[in-house]
Amino acid sequence: MKTAVRGNSFSRSEGSSRGPRPARSGGGSSQGSSFGRRPSAGGFSSRGPRPMAGGYRGGNGGGRSFGGGKRRSFKGDAIDTSRFINRAVDAVEEVAHVAKHTFADFGVHELLAKNLVQKGYVQPSPIQDQAIPVALKGGDVIGIANTGTGKTAAFLIPIINKLVSDKNHKAMVLTPTRELAQQIEQEFRSMTVGMRLWTVAAVGGLPIMRQIRSLEMGVNIVIGTPGRVKDLIARNKIVMSQYNTIVLDEADRMLDMGFIDDMRVILGAMPKEKQGLFFSATFSPEIKALCSDFLKDPITVAIKTRDTAASVDQDVIHAHPSEKLDKLHDLLNKPDFKKVLIFRETKHHTDELARELRDRGFAVSALHGDMRSRERSRAVEALSKGQIQAVIATDVAARGIDIPDITHVINYDTPSTYDTYVHRIGRTGRGNKKGVALTFVR
Ligand code: AMP
Repeated sequence: MKTAVRGNSFSRSEGSSRGPRPARSGGGSSQGSSFGRRPSAGGFSSRGPRPMAGGYRGGNGGGRSFGGGKRRSFKGDAIDTSRFINRAVDAVEEVAHVAKHTFADFGVHELLAKNLVQKGYVQPSPIQDQAIPVALKGGDVIGIANTGTGKTAAFLIPIINKLVSDKNHKAMVLTPTRELAQQIEQEFRSMTVGMRLWTVAAVGGLPIMRQIRSLEMGVNIVIGTPGRVKDLIARNKIVMSQYNTIVLDEADRMLDMGFIDDMRVILGAMPKEKQGLFFSATFSPEIKALCSDFLKDPITVAIKTRDTAASVDQDVIHAHPSEKLDKLHDLLNKPDFKKVLIFRETKHHTDELARELRDRGFAVSALHGDMRSRERSRAVEALSKGQIQAVIATDVAARGIDIPDITHVINYDTPSTYDTYVHRIGRTGRGNKKGVALTFVR
């Protein structure tokens, strides 16, 4: 197809100013929660209503129709590259979501209320606004929402409220990746200051003995990946009949990663009387089946209204494979490329590109599944803190990671499915920030 390119496109190569930019040091993260001030229909980000019904025109008047149809994976097929071009909707155009509640209305435990204030949470996001009152009453919830919508707090707030008032209560949170589990654990800790609630991240890739020790000492909540949780159940260190609340976070990702049997074993071992809060970015037949098998009269909160973040400016860069490295080099030399996530398809290529960029003087790190958990955390932290400029990641390693203020996502390798593309670009343009996603195409 012909790929029309906007006037402000990155796809034309510009005068190259060679020579690497030194990595920024110090806290590059200014994750100011302006969320409470201007929430919108689709989450916190600038996701006001937009002209989707007739297809979104990518800002260049080129007559391309974007996203008019349903989101689909195109496994095996080449993806129409016009789908990688889309202009971010300007934040000022958005129509504010009017929250029905404030955090004070929820009537949660005073320590929890205090910690939320400490975190700067002023106004609930749409998913919080709708899910929290139901979950606080013990109801089951299906949340169709992406990361960046505030779904973590939507399930943690009701759970913490229950845990703090009933120390015998136990909750299980299942997530697809250890990084996501660790992030949820951090969020949990910051919301439970002063409550003496205990948690363990029961994730693969970290020493199981330490997790067993925590479990033996007693925890109120387990946040884990299905494989490791199942392993701990088999060792009798987790007794699922004691758990009365379960969260599935990014349920569709867990299915993609082949965790369905583990998830069913875990869910099936729970008491009949339990609360389930299931979150997923998509609502596939498999997710529907899980919900109907394990939830009772759930309410559904659907926040995800379109397939690509409206707050992400998306464009393509035409380049022959032999030109890609130079073009990337030029991009990284631009001052606004401050916190960049670059995607490659294989671990080997991820390492290779990290080496090549380092040789050219850029402060970057690789992020893939063959790295030790500690090394991965270090890479994520270095990017979060602005100590390095870019991380070159595989899809699996990047799944679920929440690095504040990613300025650019670069698809150095074209993603193999549109689903993967949507997940990749969802790492930028979060909160009320705008992001840029650039995809190399030939
Ligand atoms: P999540 O979708 O759960 O990954 O959340 C995205 C980001 O929004 C995280 O950095 C949260 O700490 C932040 N966040 C969640 N809820 C609120 C809120 N009500 N006000 C401000 N920030 C929030």
